[in-house]
Order: sequence, then structure tokens, then C-alpha cells
Amino acid sequence: MKPANCKICGKVFLKSSFDICPDCVKKEQELIRNINDYCFNKEVVTLEEIGKEFNEPMKKLEKFLLDRKLVQIMDKLEMTCKACGVKYRILNEGRLYCKICYDKLETELARSGFEQNKDPYSKY
Ligand SMILES: [Zn+2]
Ligand SMILES: [Zn+2]
Repeated sequence: MKPANCKICGKVFLKSSFDICPDCVKKEQELIRNINDYCFNKEVVTLEEIGKEFNEPMKKLEKFLLDRKLVQIMDKLEMTCKACGVKYRILNEGRLYCKICYDKLETELARSGFEQNKDPYSKY
């Protein structure tokens, strides 16, 4: 363990597997528990709705989603695709794009990754 600055509050703490301090980990877990409780009786819920209810920025909720911290409510989430604006249900996959855009993006990423591999010094 090495001392590091917490990514959220900036406090110095001994880094283990998290890059945020124990206080912030606790706060985050509490927030996720509250979100799960809030969604428990709902059929469908959106990130916007959760953001408004808990006064949390979208970016943070999206990060939770991508980090698979919202798995308990994933089958209730209705998402709006970041690229084309279509509404879709994400079910058990943490994505910010609909299937069509996600596939397109993945192909593009794979292609650019390939080009980088071809010339590892291109970025210098
Ligand atoms: Zn912290
Ligand atoms: Zn889309």
C-alpha cells in the first residue's frame, strides 16, 4: 500500500485496490444502496431520474454503470443512446449506446487499435 490522493475528495490515504479513500468508498456504497432501494418498486427508471432524485451528476452515474456498480437495477434502466438518441433497455450490459451504435463504435475502435499497433511510435 502506498499513500495516494483520493480521486474524489483529494484526501491522502493508503491506496489498496481502490483509487478513492475509505470514506468516499463508504459514501459511494451508501449512495448505490439508496439508488437500489429507490428503484426497487419501479418497472422502468432512467439515469436522468436517478440523477434528479439524488442530486448526482450524470457523469458519476454513467461511471457507476460502466463500472458495473448498478447491476441490481440494470434490467430496469431505460437509456437514451449517446450517439443517435434512440431509447433502449440495457438489460444486463453496461452501455451508453444502443446496440447499433455500440457495434459501429466497436468496429471503429478495433480499427484504430489495429493502426496503432502497426506503428507503435506514431504518437511521438
Ligand atoms: Zn475521499
Ligand atoms: Zn444509437
